[in-house]
Amino acid sequence: MKHKAVFLDRDGPLVIDKKYMGDPALIEFAPDAVPGCKLLHASGFKLVIISGQSGVARGKFSLADMWAVHTRVIEIFRAAGVEFDGAYYCPHGPDDNCACRKPKPGMVEQAVRELDLDPAQSAALGDKPSDLELGRNSSCRWSVLVGEKEGEPLTPEQEHLADYRCQTLLQAAEWVVRQESSG
Ligand SMILES: [Zn+2]
Repeated sequence: MKHKAVFLDRDGPLVIDKKYMGDPALIEFAPDAVPGCKLLHASGFKLVIISGQSGVARGKFSLADMWAVHTRVIEIFRAAGVEFDGAYYCPHGPDDNCACRKPKPGMVEQAVRELDLDPAQSAALGDKPSDLELGRNSSCRWSVLVGEKEGEPLTPEQEHLADYRCQTLLQAAEWVVRQESSG
């Protein structure tokens, strides 16, 4: 049986986004990220990080820095009782024309293959319009905008893509679980 999953944008919903996260010392839990992950895991969702790290392509930090930050994120969540099932990163920039940069579905498609997931039972969660578009492009059941930024209103088309909007991962998790139980 294929598994349901949540595709989690890292910087924003999971850890506070400090823009170009190339130093493990910058890593700090986003509010209610840990209980949000725990609720989703307890409800049977695989937890999969899907993260764009264009800071590598832009020369803001190295690939090694990217992996050092990844390792730190995994460590602090593990210490809090959360284990991720997978993590996928795109280190490319807008001009690289790769298949993985959001909102292209390359990272989600790879996770679906490697972890035997079913997008039709899954949700994409993130704080940017590209995360909503990623949900649509990878045929996820839900796209949820977590921690929408004040003063950055969505376009009408982006509004249309958001099945739900909230401030924390826990609120997103509660909503997804509620949708599921209401069929
Ligand atoms: Zn890429």
